[in-house]
Amino acid sequence: MAYSEFELIERFFNRGLVRRADVVLGIGDDGAILTVPAGHELVVTIDTLVAGVHFPLTTAPRDVGYKALAVNLSDLAAMGATPAWFTLAIALPENDADWLAEFCEGMFSLAREHNVQLVGGDTTRGPLTITIQAHGFVPAGNALRRSGAQAGDAIYVTGTLGDAGVGLLSAEGRVDLSHSAVEFFTDRLNRPSPRVLIGPQLRGVASSCIDISDGLCADLGHILECSGVGACIELGKLPLSAALKNCRDHSLPRNLFGDSSPPWAARYDYVLAAGDDYELCFTLPLVHEQRLSQFANLPCSLTRIGQIELEKGLRVRDVSGNRHSVPMRGYQHF
Ligand code: ADP
Ligand code: MG
Repeated sequence: MAYSEFELIERFFNRGLVRRADVVLGIGDDGAILTVPAGHELVVTIDTLVAGVHFPLTTAPRDVGYKALAVNLSDLAAMGATPAWFTLAIALPENDADWLAEFCEGMFSLAREHNVQLVGGDTTRGPLTITIQAHGFVPAGNALRRSGAQAGDAIYVTGTLGDAGVGLLSAEGRVDLSHSAVEFFTDRLNRPSPRVLIGPQLRGVASSCIDISDGLCADLGHILECSGVGACIELGKLPLSAALKNCRDHSLPRNLFGDSSPPWAARYDYVLAAGDDYELCFTLPLVHEQRLSQFANLPCSLTRIGQIELEKGLRVRDVSGNRHSVPMRGYQHF
C-alpha cells in the first residue's frame, strides 16, 4: 500500500497519542504554536541520524525511531531541561508503510514515556536520514552548561559506561560474545535510556553537565575545556556493567590508544572512549554531594569517578595509584 505525503503524515506522524495542554496548534498548519511557561527559558537541541553512519543498516526500524528521539532527550537532560515537544524531518528512500509503522512505534513509545509531543516536521524522499529537534524548559537562568566546573569539584556519571561501544563491535561482527551478552550490549546500543529524570534534578546542584555521546574522555574533555580546568579519573571507580566485567580483556579490540594501548588501559578502553552511552557526566561542589541522596525516582546509579583539578588536561589514576595522561578524544566524524 503506497500513501501520498499527506496520508503518510496523517496516518503515521499525527498518531502520537501525547496531547499536551501547552500545544496551541500541532501538526497540520504551516507551523506549530506553543506556550512556554512563564518564568522559563526554552532549550532547543537537534540531532541527525544518517543510515549507515549513525546506525548500521541492519538496525530494526523501531530501534531507529527510539534512538532518534532518545539522543535528543539526552541532550535536553544534559542541559537540565524538562522535555516538552519535538519536530521530525525525515528523508525516506521509499514509501514503506511497514517500516514507518515500526519506526513510529519505537519513537512514540519513548515520547509517551516522557510526555513529549510531536508538533510538526517535514517528510521528503531521499537516502534514509532522520533529524529530530527537541524542545524543553528550564526555570530562567537555571540551565546546566559545560562551563562551571571548578577545581575540587567531584565528577560523577550516571549508569554504566562502555556497553554501547561493545554493542557496536558486536553489530559489526568484531567480537565474539555469548548470546545473552550480545542481547544486553545490543540493547544498550539501540535503546539508550536518556536521563530525563535526572537532568532537571541537577539544576542548582551540579556545576556543569554533559551527556556522553562520544565517550567519557571526549565529553568530559568538553567540560574541562569550557570550564578552563583539568581532571583526574580513578580507573577503579568507573562503573562497569556486569556484562562488561565479564568480557575478557583480550577479547575486545583496542580503542582509545590504538595499537600502542598501555596495559593498564585494557579493560577500561571502552569505558573511557566508546561512544553512544548517553549517560550524563556532571561535576558538583563537594558541599552539594549530600543532595544527591535526596534525588527522587533514580533509574540508575550515580557514581563518583574523580575530581576536577587546577592543572589542565585529563589524567587517569590506575589501581596501583599511578597517574597517566590520556587524550581527550573519542568518536569524531571528520
Ligand atoms: P509545508 O508545505 O507548509 O511545509 P508540509 O506539507 O510539509 O507543510 O507539512 C504539513 C504539516 O504536516 C505541517 O504541520 C508539518 O509540520 C507536518 N509534518 C510534515 N512532515 C511531518 C513529520 N515527518 N512529522 C511530523 N509532522 C510532519
Ligand atoms: Mg514541508
